[in-house]
Amino acid sequence: METDCLFCKIAAGDIPADKLYEDDEILAFRDIAPQAPVHFLIIPKKHIENPAAVGSEDEKLMGRMLRRGAAIAEENGAQDFRLVFNSGAEAGQTVFHIHMHVLGGRSMQWPPG
Ligand code: 5GP
Ligand code: ZN
Repeated sequence: METDCLFCKIAAGDIPADKLYEDDEILAFRDIAPQAPVHFLIIPKKHIENPAAVGSEDEKLMGRMLRRGAAIAEENGAQDFRLVFNSGAEAGQTVFHIHMHVLGGRSMQWPPG
């Protein structure tokens, strides 16, 4: 737990969120500024800054995030969906606690801007 980290505070329950799934390792909650009809975030409760900081000990955790994201997307009616990790400010990362965006419910363009 990093005391000045927004997503650590959400993981600890100190800041409210619209939660979709929670267990002892991961948490899924709706994005406060949705960019698609389905837009939620999956985070590990463990503080990891971004994908560049993922260690070999975190590989199973990352796999769990991916599988859970796919399951929740389907539960929310998004058969097709996009998973996004922004790693670093230039890539668009604004919250420096790793999070996987799950976006669905509309058609997507490629490449992203
Ligand atoms: P990033 O730009 O770092 O990839 O994504 C951060 C995401 O967190 C953004 O989509 C933003 O809307 C979302 N976000 C920022 N603050 C909060 C918050 O307090 N609650 C929730 N639910 N989402 C947040
Ligand atoms: Zn954190």
